Amino acid sequence: MKYDEKNIFAKILRGEIPCKKIYEDDFVLSFHDINPQKKIHALVIPKGNYIDLDDFSKNASPDEMVGLIKGISFVAKKLGISADVGKVYRALANISEHGGQEVPHLHFHLFGGEKVGKMVE
Ligand code: AMP
Repeated sequence: MKYDEKNIFAKILRGEIPCKKIYEDDFVLSFHDINPQKKIHALVIPKGNYIDLDDFSKNASPDEMVGLIKGISFVAKKLGISADVGKVYRALANISEHGGQEVPHLHFHLFGGEKVGKMVE
């Protein structure tokens, strides 16, 4: 499958549509989900054009991989939900059709600020 340059997160990365930004560095952009499912619901996306985690693990550079993982932790800390400051959170990536992925640009959801509940409903 080819990366779709018109997906909503690609547009956010290009600055064509706004987001409620939480954090940005060379490797990731993080912003609040437009339709929060929990008290805190953030998204962390790599800046590179990767469709999903499989694409990312095959094609991203080691620096991009480290950048994404560190970015997730950094955002959790910034939101006050990381292990050292909060009651911790759930990081989740939906992958393709059966995983329920709607936006075809890799993203991690960070849910927290309250009990997140069952992993699979
Ligand atoms: P997924 O189903 O894993 O692909 O999740 C896509 C997520 O993107 C959903 O939780 C949406 O609410 C969220 N979303 C869609 N459009 C936007 C947007 N413009 N800004 C922030 N979050 C968005």
